[in-house]
Amino acid sequence: MSDTLEGKVVLVTGASSGIGQATAVALSKAGARVAVAARRADRLRSLAQDAPGEMLVLQLDVADPESVRDAVAATVERFGALDILVNNAGVMLSGPILGADTEEWTRMVDTNLLGSMYAVHAALPHLLRRKGAVVQVSSTSGRMATAASGVYAATKFGITAFSEALRQEVTAQGVRVIVVEPGFVATELTSHITDPSIQAMAKNLAESMRTLRPEDIADAVLYAVTQPEHVAVNEILIRPTDQT
Ligand code: NDP
Repeated sequence: MSDTLEGKVVLVTGASSGIGQATAVALSKAGARVAVAARRADRLRSLAQDAPGEMLVLQLDVADPESVRDAVAATVERFGALDILVNNAGVMLSGPILGADTEEWTRMVDTNLLGSMYAVHAALPHLLRRKGAVVQVSSTSGRMATAASGVYAATKFGITAFSEALRQEVTAQGVRVIVVEPGFVATELTSHITDPSIQAMAKNLAESMRTLRPEDIADAVLYAVTQPEHVAVNEILIRPTDQT
């Protein structure tokens, strides 16, 4: 890929807030045409209105394979191709295993793991055609599990496993697979945690450090996808300096 994204088409899942939103803006600024997808279409519409470049708003539930296929098809129909999939949509419903609401486990696996797999499955034929790239938003929890992060970490470890298999399958055909592993980023992610003590812990952790901003991760994504074609940045771990 060249050092600008002029002429490139990107699909960002989970673009209605946080890292996905910042990434969509950064890639749009770099010249890409960006399809922004999530469940909250109102948020996406205001994002598209203020965007530096052309954006396509797509209502998407990544847990529904048909919705994912439709989003990829709509992107290709509108822009004629798909060069980069940013697989970012995710939920973190942290809590201890004992007594957990297993419905929350299902949501995390369906969204973070199966959802990102569905997106790769739907996008891959198009990415192969364009020698494109897949950005898999994992986490430090994809490298190290901690108490109360068991299922979330399992989904992020799963993303790493899937991404490495994918890399081996498609790198010879010019498709690059990039796993991004952020530490603590100030977003809405922790606001969905239902366990009050874990919610309080997350708040205390955020207040104890200079957290990353979504734009810090967007910058890393931009770096990875603007490398020359022979350079595959396969993994980026970014933590706040204050995070131990
Ligand atoms: P946000 O909560 O701000 O963003 C999550 C995004 O995912 C939203 O746009 C949300 O949109 C979307 N989303 C959730 N469920 C679905 C679904 N079923 N279908 C489509 N979109 C969905 O959090 P972040 O920006 O922090 O999270 C983005 C990614 O970064 C996640 O994968 C997260 O695990 C990862 N990450 C975040 C870290 C952090 O500290 N914040 C650290 C490491 C990784 P909507 O609700 O409109 O559907």
